[in-house]
Amino acid sequence: MIKSPRGTRDLLPPDTALWNFVEAAVRDVFRAYNFHEIRTPIFESTELFSRGVGEETDIVTKEMYTWLDHAGVHSDEFLQICELVVNPPPGNPYADVQKRASALLAASRMRGQSLTLRPENTAGVVRAYIEHKLWERGLNKLFYIGPQFRRERPQKGRYRQFYQIGAEIIGPAASGSQSPARDAELLELLATLLERVGIKDWTLELNSVGCPADRVKFNEALRQALAPAVEKMCADCQRRAVTNPLRIFDCKVPEDQPIIATLPTIGQFLDEDCHAHYAEVKNILNAVGVPYVENARLVRGLDYYTRTAFEFTHGALGAQNAILGGGRYDGLAESLGSPQAAPGIGFAIGEDRLVLSLAATADSVARKPDVYVAPLGVGMNREAARVARELRRHDPAADLVVELGDETFRLKKSFEAADKMGARYILIVGENEVAADAFALKHLASGEQVTVARGELARRILRK
Ligand code: AMP
Repeated sequence: MIKSPRGTRDLLPPDTALWNFVEAAVRDVFRAYNFHEIRTPIFESTELFSRGVGEETDIVTKEMYTWLDHAGVHSDEFLQICELVVNPPPGNPYADVQKRASALLAASRMRGQSLTLRPENTAGVVRAYIEHKLWERGLNKLFYIGPQFRRERPQKGRYRQFYQIGAEIIGPAASGSQSPARDAELLELLATLLERVGIKDWTLELNSVGCPADRVKFNEALRQALAPAVEKMCADCQRRAVTNPLRIFDCKVPEDQPIIATLPTIGQFLDEDCHAHYAEVKNILNAVGVPYVENARLVRGLDYYTRTAFEFTHGALGAQNAILGGGRYDGLAESLGSPQAAPGIGFAIGEDRLVLSLAATADSVARKPDVYVAPLGVGMNREAARVARELRRHDPAADLVVELGDETFRLKKSFEAADKMGARYILIVGENEVAADAFALKHLASGEQVTVARGELARRILRK
């Protein structure tokens, strides 16, 4: 049997109803805050992520799905290589064939491009911002919903293909993209969004990771603090201590935690502007009544964050308790080649985890058929199809869910089918009904049955 690859899964009905419920609610919230959808490719140049996410991050060092995409081999060069093998030059000088084949292979490899399945979507959005000169539009408020890919160790709430719902506010400095008002707006949106899908007991953890100059001072302090202890730490941390000490806070190795707990925190190194920015984010959150706790060790696992960094956690999730994370990334656009500064802030919700945290069940949000149209007797499929079409297309449209049976079913089997799918009514379409242009409509729960004229059916079924 061929199974889905490790760390991936099929989302099946009725569970997909929960996913659709979440996505519909989320789209409503984004609309209310004037965000617009962006869809970027699922794969991008590898370089985008190594530069954007950061060479030293776990994502880039261990978790990306990367391949060399060399279309060239399949075109001219490939045919030439085949030709050489099939029709060797006179005298069959194998060494010569091999030499020419390997030269062609090398040439086409060089033309090949390293591509990566996106492990996150912020880098792709910023790439699109630069490519399409979105600064010309002023402040961009964008959201996305889609799959991301990381080769992590699979467990509950952690997958290799997972789904993120995210948003980015990005624009030239003059558009106000740097303002703490945007950070607070995004956090308040998230509080609203979680409430809207029925998640109440979340915790917002907040920190400021400062600007690059603060980071230089902080990394230096970390190096000094780590010097006496680093040899006792895991191999990853020993490497991080040299290349990017801040990333030591990503370490999950239990033995390293007591050492990490003694390290200085970034808050002591923030300059005046970063302090003021952070203070204003908190002021606005206090004013609008969004609660938060400060976590001085929260640095997030991606290199691009500046100033505000945050996570929302939820107890019901256990070890993988972060439903979402995000932060500000004021220098990212420039590091990806933007000709001008484009401060921004964004978040990504783990949709898989969001769905796991919902109190709602698939059954409570799945839409059941309003009516099961049951053809009764030979030749009645045609008549039932006509009735079903009228009901499905009636005006106002799309507020009736209509299921259509099959004339080979005896009445008992149609009733069983209607019952099993939770239909409210069953509508019998038999010869007598067609002749009278009026149909037997039975309410399955109460057993009450009425005869309804064709033109009245939709209205009658809609009456709850
Ligand atoms: P990040 O892009 O690492 O900031 O992650 C943002 C959110 O995506 C996390 O808070 C998780 O909810 C979710 N997430 C990240 N990695 C995974 C994964 N492998 N499986 C499921 N959800 C994930």
